[in-house]
Parts: sequence; structure tokens; C-alpha cells
Amino acid sequence: MLSRCWTLFVGPHFSKKINLETSFYKYSFKKLQNLLADQDINPDQARLLYNWHYKKNQTDPCSLFGLSDKAKNYISSGFHFKRPEIIEIKESDDGTVKFLFSLKDQKTVETVLIPFNKKYTVCLSSQVGCAMKCAFCFTGTQGLSRHLETDEIVGQFLEVQTWLTKNRPLDDIILNIVFMGQGEPLHNFDSVKEALEIFISQYGLSLADHKITVSTSGYLPGLKRWKAEMPSVNIALSLHSVFDEKRSRLIPINTKYPLSEIIPIIESIPEGKKRFVTYEYLLIEGFNDSEEDALATAQMLTNTKAFVNLIPFNPFPGSEFKRPTKEKIEAFYRIIQSHRIPVTLRTTKGDQILAACGQLNTNHLKLKG
Ligand code: SF4
Repeated sequence: MLSRCWTLFVGPHFSKKINLETSFYKYSFKKLQNLLADQDINPDQARLLYNWHYKKNQTDPCSLFGLSDKAKNYISSGFHFKRPEIIEIKESDDGTVKFLFSLKDQKTVETVLIPFNKKYTVCLSSQVGCAMKCAFCFTGTQGLSRHLETDEIVGQFLEVQTWLTKNRPLDDIILNIVFMGQGEPLHNFDSVKEALEIFISQYGLSLADHKITVSTSGYLPGLKRWKAEMPSVNIALSLHSVFDEKRSRLIPINTKYPLSEIIPIIESIPEGKKRFVTYEYLLIEGFNDSEEDALATAQMLTNTKAFVNLIPFNPFPGSEFKRPTKEKIEAFYRIIQSHRIPVTLRTTKGDQILAACGQLNTNHLKLKG
């Protein structure tokens, strides 16, 4: 294929042919450097390319000052900048926005933008559906369709950021990224890791690693790889009960990977004195909201790096669980707090549009056609 740059460099130098359908968003900075080096292009040009696209949102390398002709032709003839397409947007009265994305194979995933004091957290999906089948989660009812590729994860973020700049220009700052959308991120370890590297690269999006959190149901094969391979982002565990019997009812993989195996690994992960492990605790009426549950949770987490995030259950169509009363929620909160464990009570946002935690699902959308 001929390059679009008029300074086409023709020769035997393109030693490793790249697939013409390759997305630029598949390449972490390091991988892009390696790719350029494979082509006898100075790997330092990756810095220019990252800056040019992720900071300046440019897509035509032909006009990129300082980029060699060979690099221009290599990029312009071999890469595309296509992103998942937003096909539906729902906005809640509280400012939460839910995006439905269509992927290259027409499968769909949801991404949620959550406002807080004129800044935003974006909640990304890592899989189409999910194999973990957590009993409280609407996504879990869908089953796993496939993993998302790196470009589909990065593309969600970039599209949401573009929407925000266009539609809410006065408060367009995305402060946090959480992997708490559809999917178990550690089940799709390689693509999630690659996307994280793109997010935090100083030459690209430059997002702060301590503002990014990956949430897991306790997928042990991924946890075992974390320390050696994952960038230094935060980790959150869906705890929901410290009793294995109860936890297994909510999170079936707990039977295979019980708390006794995953907690020591999780507690060894945070880097730096100020880093915590967030333990997500979904409060469900009459199931895990008793004084005994609260005391056992506090005992297990005393003297650890725990930060507890209590989340009152968000009902979804067909769910068997209910949200506890305000009094029960507050009593649970006070017990955790009395053990000097940092704890927050998450305000539910987006439940009006089924965008709250555990409510994402794209099957019902397909049915609507
Ligand atoms: S809570 Fe997370 S891991 Fe569990 S089924 Fe839902 S998306 Fe999957």
C-alpha cells in the first residue's frame, strides 16, 4: 500500500510488515519503540508520536515536524486511529453518564462517567460480559462473550474524554479511572496492563498511577502476576463477606480461590507508604449487613492496608437481593470506623439509568434492538 505522505520512502527497509489494520492504541510506549527499532527507525521517534497523538490529538503524521520520512510513511501506511463508536448515551439527573459502545464486531460494552465536585471518574469495561457470574451483578448474568483488546479499552477512555470536552467544557477533567465496569480485569490481564501503560505514559496521556484503580473479584492467576508485571496502580478487591461460605454465594470463584489464598497476595501489592487496598463491601439486606458481619470484617482488616468502601446494593431487573435500611448501613459503617479502619459510604450514582455499580449489562439493550 502506498503511503499518504508524498515523501514516500521506498526500499527494502520495512523488514517486518505490520498488519494494515493495526490500531495505534494497541502499542504501549515501549512496544512502539520496539516496533520502530525493528524497522530501523530511531526508537526515540516514539516520543514524538505519542506526544503528537495523545497530547495534541493529531492523526496525520505527514505534517509532524521532526519525524523522519521513514517513520511518517511507516505510521501513515500501517496504523489507524479508529475507536469504539458511541451508539447510545444516557444521562442521569445526578450528572452520571452511561455510554453504550459498539465494537468492531458489533458487540457492545458500557462505560460510565461519574461526576464528583466538577471532576469525573470514568469506569471502564475490560470484557464483553464476564465469566465470574457474581450473584449481585447484572453483567454476571450475561456470561463472557470475549476479552476487550487494548485499543478498545483505551478507545473507551478517549471517546468519553472527547464527549466531556464537547459537552461539559467547564468541568471536563477526568481525575480517576476505575476498572469496575463490565468484566474481570485480571482475567484479561495482558490487554488491561497494556492499556494502563498507555494511560500513565509520561509522553502520552500522563495520567497519575495513584488515580487509577483496578478492581478484582479475586482472580488468583492475575493476582499472582500483578507484582512483577502490573504498573503501580491501585488495587481494589470485591470482598462483600469475610465468611467464605457467604462470599462463595456472591462470588462463585471464591470456592476455587478462597480469601486465605488471595488476601496475603493483595496485601503485599500496594507500593508506597500512603497506598491502601480498597475493599469493596456490597451491603445486602439480611445477608451480609449484620453486626456479626461488620465485626468479623473489622477484625480481619485491622492492622492491614485496608480502606473499606461500603456500597449499598443497587437493585437491577430480576435480582434476588435488596438494599439494607439506612439505619443498618450506618450501624455497619460505625463498627468499621470504631476499629480505626478508614471507611467510606459510597453514594449511589446513576441507578436511575442502570449505571451504578453492578448494574451494567448489554444483553437487555440488544433485546430492545
Ligand atoms: S462483579 Fe465484576 S467480576 Fe463479578 S460478574 Fe460482575 S463484572 Fe464480573
